[in-house]
Amino acid sequence: MFTLSKLLWLGIILFIVWNLFRIIEKRHALNEKNKDKSEKSKMKTDSQSEPLPAIYCPTCATFVAGNKCEREDCGISNQSNG
Ligand SMILES: [Zn+2]
Repeated sequence: MFTLSKLLWLGIILFIVWNLFRIIEKRHALNEKNKDKSEKSKMKTDSQSEPLPAIYCPTCATFVAGNKCEREDCGISNQSNG
């Protein structure tokens, strides 16, 4: 027996399911967008934090970025000249 109330309920259920799918899809799209964004920013920070070769300067007792110490009297860059 196909009654009008059954048809009405079917319509309501379809409406709810349809809306649920739309919400899920929207959230999924938003997540993808955020993911993409965060991944991009992560990549950016990764490339930014890509460390220069750090060397230890015993004279200054510290690590220096790059391949020589700022202080010229350390002589790290021309150590091999000895
Ligand atoms: Zn130094």
